[in-house]
Amino acid sequence: MGSDTLSAAIDHMRSWAMHEGRVMHKPTQVGDIFGSLVFNDAVQQARLPKAVYQALRDTVTKGTPLEMSTADAVASALKDWAVEHGASHYTHWFQPMTGITAEKHDSFFSPTGDGGSMAEFSGKELVRGEPDASSFPSGGMRSTFEARGYTAWDPTSPPWLLVNGNSATLVIPTAFVSWTGESLDKKTPLLRSMEALSTQAVRALKLFGVPASRVTATCGPEQEYFLIDRHFYYNRPDLINAGRTLFGARPPKGQELEDQYFGAIPERVLAYMAEVETELYKVGVPIKTRHNEVAPSQYELAPIFESMNVATDHQMMTMETLKRIAPKYGLACLTHEKPFAGVNGSGKHVNWSMGDDLGNNLLNPGATPHDNMQFLFFCTAVIRAVDTFQGLLRMSIASAGNDHRLGANEAPPAILSIFLGDMLTDVLEQVEKGGAKSSKHGGVLDIGVSVLPKLPRDAGDRNRTSPFAFTGNKFEFRAVSSNQSIAFPATCLNVAVSESLDYMCGQLEAAVAKGEAIEDAVASLLKTTLKKHKRIIFNGNGYSQEWQKEAAKRGLLNHKNTVDALPEIVTPLVVKTFEKFKVLNERELHARYEVNVETYNKTINVEAQLMVLMANRYILPAAFEYQRAVAASVTAVKQAGGTSREGKKTLAKIVKLVDAFRVQTDVLAAALDHNAPSVEKHAKFMRDKVVPAMVKLRELGDQIELLAPHTTWPLPTYREMLFIK
Ligand code: ADP
Ligand code: MG
Repeated sequence: MGSDTLSAAIDHMRSWAMHEGRVMHKPTQVGDIFGSLVFNDAVQQARLPKAVYQALRDTVTKGTPLEMSTADAVASALKDWAVEHGASHYTHWFQPMTGITAEKHDSFFSPTGDGGSMAEFSGKELVRGEPDASSFPSGGMRSTFEARGYTAWDPTSPPWLLVNGNSATLVIPTAFVSWTGESLDKKTPLLRSMEALSTQAVRALKLFGVPASRVTATCGPEQEYFLIDRHFYYNRPDLINAGRTLFGARPPKGQELEDQYFGAIPERVLAYMAEVETELYKVGVPIKTRHNEVAPSQYELAPIFESMNVATDHQMMTMETLKRIAPKYGLACLTHEKPFAGVNGSGKHVNWSMGDDLGNNLLNPGATPHDNMQFLFFCTAVIRAVDTFQGLLRMSIASAGNDHRLGANEAPPAILSIFLGDMLTDVLEQVEKGGAKSSKHGGVLDIGVSVLPKLPRDAGDRNRTSPFAFTGNKFEFRAVSSNQSIAFPATCLNVAVSESLDYMCGQLEAAVAKGEAIEDAVASLLKTTLKKHKRIIFNGNGYSQEWQKEAAKRGLLNHKNTVDALPEIVTPLVVKTFEKFKVLNERELHARYEVNVETYNKTINVEAQLMVLMANRYILPAAFEYQRAVAASVTAVKQAGGTSREGKKTLAKIVKLVDAFRVQTDVLAAALDHNAPSVEKHAKFMRDKVVPAMVKLRELGDQIELLAPHTTWPLPTYREMLFIK
């Protein structure tokens, strides 16, 4: 990169802290601000009439349908609260199938006859919105003549205020459905799947004598991201338009030294993090941890877990806030899965569990054998679910971006497997072997569970190579990508476990009906279930070649790329299961398939177009310039009566490289002219022809970068972007 931009970045880095207003002068007390911009339970309780508050609580905690009169009363209090806090507008905030969020702002105020204005907001406006929906993807579910789409208030996720310097907007989390009631978004199926999971888990708890009436899927998503200086970002068209670098030679100093992981957080970054956290606290996102990640300039933050639905909304808000605040500190936040080739990519670890309304975490191993039996049941249900729905779970995390990570030797492999740790694996092996030996002692089941109290409740051993790991009292879906909404992976997990619980409850209920003791029924069910599904358990190194072979032997799926993985969403088993639990019907599933394939095609197309542009307008001019300079130097030496042998060699090398680069640019450009009879065929073409052509062009471009002079190179280099903090 030319020295101007470089020194601008360095100046910026040095002076940011002195800039008026960028620093919060006094550290904020979390308690003073947490939830201050949220219409949360406390505010609801204070501002709603008692009966209205109770009705709303019943809707939130028990799923009781909401009356219009309640909605009217809530709307009125909500508007007063928002206007008092300076809000002029409200928005129905939703999560279309694109995976990002959408909002359209409407004013509260309407003119009165006498030239004034009045703030108005009715229950109807709270409950239902009608955005112009025709430009959101519907996967063919909506033709333009029936383009209506509705947003529907989700009372289980509290409204909040989006405040910036000039405005405050009341944000109302909503679901987005078509005129026919089909889901056009990510929230609707998530809510439906949570409902299904609750029903099945409550049914299971009943068998164990636990009188819970509701079970909530819980989630704490960890977010990895990169931060680079904004000057560099603005000089990289690939980062701006594709979120990742399409060219860029590896830096001489990579992450080999591992001196970044958990290292001291750079000053500017820490100040940025503090402001991000403050903003998130205000809107009620319970951020808990922050640290450096493995790669240079890579960081992570994680909240305390919440209900899956709220956690999903908060996760979207977290990504938006990370990006929104960065420019204030002269930074750009990159959430792409793989912004820099050859450097670790970013993931999002979806920590998942189930909690009942009596306050118990169903995946807590517990201290008593009775609890252990129940724990083993739920744990086995998850094992069975992940094995049965490997393909679906793999599909739920598939994207062009995640293709760079999964299986690329620094992220979980594309094969789904479960890490349980030695202790739990051992217990389950005993259950599998010893089920027949089980005998009752004073009402306590002896299925080798006496070892269980020794289970480490904190995750003692860890395995970074596993895509799905048990970590003490929850499972951690680690293959989810940093850039995606967690809604669909969570939905799939909820559905898969619902199906497992449904099946296993059915077995137990039948056995108990025949007079079998529940303990014996559980013991034999766990034994057969584990025997059948234990192939999914793998505690070894997921990055190794042996695992690829071993997994194939076990018959585990290994979809190496998005195009292979996506059809898993429309297999007969998936359609049957989603329909059974009323989460998505066949049309809705097909729509998601189509949207995903199209997104893949569009992503690759944008990247390839950008590469051609960067090749022609950035790299080639610099390469020709260098070629000319070397040629001129060789000529000059000759004119002076000498021979520059090394100069000639360099010239020959650069000429060859630049020619190859030029030819390959045309190859890629030509490939993009391709037309296919279907989106699937086009996706295969993108994968098999366009992506390899991009890889080849990049290799050549990066070789040119390593030869060309630093001072005239038109793009910020990896060395600059990753190490100037
Ligand atoms: P670790 O990754 O070291 O296990 P934590 O214990 O901090 O770290 O957990 C990581 C994430 O998992 C946090 O967001 C945390 O809130 C979340 N988590 C903890 N318990 C649960 C649970 N029962 N359900 C869902 N997420 C949970
Ligand atoms: Mg973790």
